[in-house]
Amino acid sequence: MRYTDLFNGGQVPVIGQGTWHLGEDPARRTNELSALRAGIDVGLTVIDTAEMYGDGASEELVGEAIRGRRDEVVLVSKVYPHNASRSGVVAACERSLRRLDTDRLDVYLLHWAGRYPLAETVDGFDRLVAAGKIRSWGLSNFDLDDLKRVPDGCATNQVLYNLGSRGIEFDLLPWQQRVGMPLMAYSPLGQGPSLLEHPLLAELGERHGVTSAQIALAWVIRQPGVIAIPKASSPEHVRQNAGAGAVVLDAEDYLSLDSAFPAPRRKQPLDIL
Ligand code: NDP
Repeated sequence: MRYTDLFNGGQVPVIGQGTWHLGEDPARRTNELSALRAGIDVGLTVIDTAEMYGDGASEELVGEAIRGRRDEVVLVSKVYPHNASRSGVVAACERSLRRLDTDRLDVYLLHWAGRYPLAETVDGFDRLVAAGKIRSWGLSNFDLDDLKRVPDGCATNQVLYNLGSRGIEFDLLPWQQRVGMPLMAYSPLGQGPSLLEHPLLAELGERHGVTSAQIALAWVIRQPGVIAIPKASSPEHVRQNAGAGAVVLDAEDYLSLDSAFPAPRRKQPLDIL
C-alpha cells in the first residue's frame, strides 16, 4: 500500500473506507462491522463518515467498529452546512464524538457550502482544534474558485472522482497538488455496477488478474496526493479494495482507459452527488 502526506504532517494510506449507507439496516450490521474491522486489519485506516449518513447511524457503527482501536485509525467526519455556524459546528462535533465514542476527530469537514459564511465555520473549527476535539479541518464539494478563497489551514477537499467523472483533472486536482492539499476522492467506484460493469474494466482486470473494482481504484490513486475512500459492506470487498494498492497500470492501460473515459478538455462544473 502506498502512503501520502495528509492532514497536517501525517502520512496515510491512499485507500481508505467510506461509510455512506452503512449502519442503516440492523440485519446487515454484523457483516458491516466485520467489513470495517477487516479494512483496518489490511491497512485501510482512513475511515470517512458524516453526521448525515443514516442520521448518525453510520457514526455509531464506526464507533463500535473502532472500539479499542482508536489509535489505529484516521477518523474523518462531516458537519451539515445547516449546522455550520460558529457555535453550531462545535455542538455538531460534540454529538458526532458521542456517537463515535471517541474524544477526537482527525479531520472534520464541512460537507458542502451552505448559508453560513465560511469564516464563521472556520472559526468554529479553530475552536475545536484549540479544545483538542479535532486535529484538523477541511472541506467537501468545493470547486476551485471557492477553494482559492478559503482561509489557511484547510487539510483536504473531498470531491467526487472516478473514471466516469474526471472534470476535476482540468483545474481543481492540479491546483490541490500544487499547493499540497490532498484530495479525498469520494465514490471512487462510481457507486458500483454502472461503472464496474464496463467491459474495458473487466478486460483490464483479466489482464492483471484482478477485479474491475481493483482496476477502477488503482486508476483513481495513480496520481500523487489522492486518497480513495471506497465504501464496501463485506470483508471480501474490503480486502479486494486494499489489494488495489498493489495494482500497477501501464501506459497501454492508461491509453485505453483515456479513450473509453476521456479526460476533460475544458472547465467543467464540479460534479456533486
Ligand atoms: P463507491 O464508489 O465507494 O461505491 C460503493 C459501491 O461499490 C457499493 O455498492 C459497494 O458494494 C461496491 N463495492 C465496494 N467494493 C467493491 C468491490 N471490491 N467489488 C465490487 N463492488 C464493490 O460509492 P460511495 O458513494 O459510497 O462513495 C464512497 C464514500 O465516499 C461514501 O461511502 C462516503 O463515505 C463518501 N462520500 C462523500 C460524499 C460527499 O459529499 N463528501 C458524497 C458521496 C460519498 P458493497 O456495499 O456491497 O460492498
